[in-house]
Amino acid sequence: MTTIQEQLKAVRARIHAACQAAGRADDAVTLLAVSKTFPAEAVQAAYDAGQTAFGENYIQEAVQKITALRHLPLVWHCIGPIQSNKTRLVAEHFDWVHTVDRLKIAQRLSEQRPAHLPPLQVCIQVNIDGGPTKSGVAPDDVLALARAVSQLPHLQLRGLMCIPEPAADFVAECAVFQLARTLFDDLNASGLALDTLSMGMSADLEAAVASGSTLVRVGSAIFGSRHYA
Ligand SMILES: *Cc1c(COP(=O)(O)O)cnc(C)c1O
Repeated sequence: MTTIQEQLKAVRARIHAACQAAGRADDAVTLLAVSKTFPAEAVQAAYDAGQTAFGENYIQEAVQKITALRHLPLVWHCIGPIQSNKTRLVAEHFDWVHTVDRLKIAQRLSEQRPAHLPPLQVCIQVNIDGGPTKSGVAPDDVLALARAVSQLPHLQLRGLMCIPEPAADFVAECAVFQLARTLFDDLNASGLALDTLSMGMSADLEAAVASGSTLVRVGSAIFGSRHYA
């Protein structure tokens, strides 16, 4: 087995153990393999080991990989910040976007989604621990944004995404993830039909799964440490 295959297997085992511990079914949690900074060959190796969902942060880098691997049945998730001048590339090339945090970006994505493609699947990024410089809508503003996004014709609102600051331990990680879980439950109680809570990364996926995450975004634990050019 290659390193990527072994590490993928180890991550799947961690998710399985976390689901067991939480009394959740294995298929309640989707694994998104975060391939930013890694070449198309690494994505191909993960695909050969059964992985089909991939996350990317940098739009231009992602479009190159998506184009190079067009022959594979992959599902691509945009998990990086989106500037207005990049919305067209995102709308044309990705299946999902996790980082919508203002209506203007959502409107552009909906307008620019090509008619022959299914609606873009969208999560709203929430600034769950209130970091002042962080992306994400404030928790108090999520409901209004979610209602507006859910009206856009070429988007399908699926849920929430968050990236908390690293916490001291498992209990502290769970405390923050639980805030996101509560917000998610509140949105569903107010009539939005959301099924995706995107939270948990290499370092904290166990706490995220314990707190109700339905999708963990895992990069370095699968592909190794990243080197930025
Ligand atoms: C890079 C990144 C990840 C993956 O992080 P790892 O710690 O390598 O697992 C997950 N989510 C987002 C938004 C990222 O930018």
